[in-house]
Amino acid sequence: MRIDIITLFPEMCEAFLGDSIIGRARKKGVIEVSCHQLRDFALDKHHRVDDTTYGGGMGMLMMAEPIALCFEDICRSTGSRPHFIYMSPKGKTLTQQRLKELSELENVTILCGHYEGVDQRVLDEYVDEEISIGDYVLTGGELPALVLADSLSRLVPGVLSDDLCFSDESHFSGLLEYPQYTKPAVWRGREVPEVLLSGHHANIEKWRREKSIEETWRRRPEMIDESALSKKELEFLRQLRGE
Ligand code: SAM
Repeated sequence: MRIDIITLFPEMCEAFLGDSIIGRARKKGVIEVSCHQLRDFALDKHHRVDDTTYGGGMGMLMMAEPIALCFEDICRSTGSRPHFIYMSPKGKTLTQQRLKELSELENVTILCGHYEGVDQRVLDEYVDEEISIGDYVLTGGELPALVLADSLSRLVPGVLSDDLCFSDESHFSGLLEYPQYTKPAVWRGREVPEVLLSGHHANIEKWRREKSIEETWRRRPEMIDESALSKKELEFLRQLRGE
């Protein structure tokens, strides 16, 4: 997968994307990420990319043309027309399900807004989708773009050591993850559940599945899809509910 990020702060994005799991995956060539300085596509010698809003109002707006020129440049360099996402508090909230679908794409371009946002006309002309990371407003689209790039990259085969690293986690299969423990077996009087020390794989799997159901029911009951549970699991859920 190739991810292009259009931003006023490429160094900020690179600082995060050059390190740890994503940084290593980039070095191995499993994913390609490029951060583009929008000012390089400005039309004037001052590299200005924002202007006042028509109709008045506080703050500045990012102009359409530099964004269009930058995206067209990315299209030329990828030899394709990448799926173009604008990070926006007005967008659909990001979910693991949407990430799974997006991870099938070859090329994704992400636009980070700033100031009051972006001239609507370039969104109408080029943007395929607006994505929000939650119902609150940040100063810029860089953190949202990094959230998207990070959560997307880890679903690309080869980025994590094993596909189980993401398929066995919260939200992937519609449940939250079971509690986990590491050494020592007793910490400040708190013991690791005995079944996890037993070495009995089937019992451990059953315990984990039931704990996943329990965690989800306690924290996010609206997430539970009863049709995805076996008869025994439904019985377990009814017991939890005291039915
Ligand atoms: N005037 C805009 C509004 O009311 O919808 C908010 C602009 S915000 C200050 C600046 C930029 O931050 C946005 O263009 C967007 O790219 C990004 N941003 C802020 N909050 C976001 C969120 N919850 N999800 C995704 N992007 C966000």
